[in-house]
Amino acid sequence: MSAGSAEVADEAPTAGNKGLPLLEDLPELAGRRVLVRLDLNVPLFERPDGETVISDDFRIRATLPTLRYLRMQGSDVTVATHLGRPDGPGDRRYSVAPVAERLRELGQDVRVLENLRYSPGEAANSPEFVKDLVRDQDCYVDDAFGVMHRRHASVVGPPGFLPSAAGRLVEREMAAMSVLLHHPPRPFVVVIGGAKVADKISLLRSLGARADKLLVGGGMAFTFFAALGHTTGGSIVDLPRLGECRALLADCPSLVLPMDVLAESDSDSEARTFGRDIPDGWRGLDIGPETREIFCEEISAAGSILWNGPMGVFEDDRFAEGTRAVASALARVNVPRVVGGGDSAAAVDTFGLSGQVGHVSTGGGATLELFEFGDLPGLAALRESPFSRH
Ligand code: ADP
Ligand code: MG
Repeated sequence: MSAGSAEVADEAPTAGNKGLPLLEDLPELAGRRVLVRLDLNVPLFERPDGETVISDDFRIRATLPTLRYLRMQGSDVTVATHLGRPDGPGDRRYSVAPVAERLRELGQDVRVLENLRYSPGEAANSPEFVKDLVRDQDCYVDDAFGVMHRRHASVVGPPGFLPSAAGRLVEREMAAMSVLLHHPPRPFVVVIGGAKVADKISLLRSLGARADKLLVGGGMAFTFFAALGHTTGGSIVDLPRLGECRALLADCPSLVLPMDVLAESDSDSEARTFGRDIPDGWRGLDIGPETREIFCEEISAAGSILWNGPMGVFEDDRFAEGTRAVASALARVNVPRVVGGGDSAAAVDTFGLSGQVGHVSTGGGATLELFEFGDLPGLAALRESPFSRH
């Protein structure tokens, strides 16, 4: 799902990219060949006549500032991207042809390499595949923020061979996020939700140490409730993680759990609010009204905010209020804010709040790993390139 539909501006973002080589740091580009790694992994669907069509081209449009810059400098651009999860090179469903066509329609006269994931060397980070990619190229640009957490050949390989730089999208993402990463204005409020505690427990541990308030909602709250000895009815509980949740509760005084929960009855789909004990026959699917109020108050008092993961099953209108309340509270404040995660971005879009909630990251896993580990393999490769100036 796209992270909103706002057009991406052409001007360069400001500060926050210390040590990261940017487009301006590349050597003279006129007449030189530039390999550009983009994330053009757009949603596709097959029409009844068999033709594959792009259903949302946001990711393609988001790369235009970088492509326009390179063309203005007179360079000869080769674009590389992955697309879907093909079963080998014969899988024509994931050919980049529709993406190349869309780039042409958007005025970008560039060469587009076939789907990187057609080659097993991409995910395996094979040195031979890296050599194939950089052969005859003069420079490398990485603007594929969404895959910068992957040690794939096209992400971490080329900076070892070519003068390299981050593109505009990566620059913009990092300018927004480095504030929260390195010196978040206090109080730093982190809101984490989503379905599974297993996906995010190490992120919670890492952020719990840095945040002044760690507000936990969504399906993952129920494993914490279970760890505290509450009944959880039919809510999703990850029993193998009970011990880790208990340890986190003991170690992390900033962690705030919901006070109440909106649950659905198994028998007749009635929705009702409970405290932290959910009876049998009921499944908790959203935070309750009291929790909405507490979370919104914390957000309005925040000096900076990071939000990842919906507070409930927002895809069902009846259980979207918690997520909507958080998104609206974010829209009402004017402090550094970052929203990460594909479903969270989709929720913001559904509520019509894109452009009002701060920086909505285009990276799901990449954003989470950046906040968990403080860096990404793709960023490190650019910073450490022996050929880059900055
Ligand atoms: P993101 O993509 O923003 O990182 P996740 O993928 O972690 O978010 O989680 C999103 C999913 O979590 C949504 O599909 C939502 O329906 C689900 N979810 C949220 N709360 C609950 C809940 N209480 N029970 C079950 N699923 C939930
Ligand atoms: Mg998700």
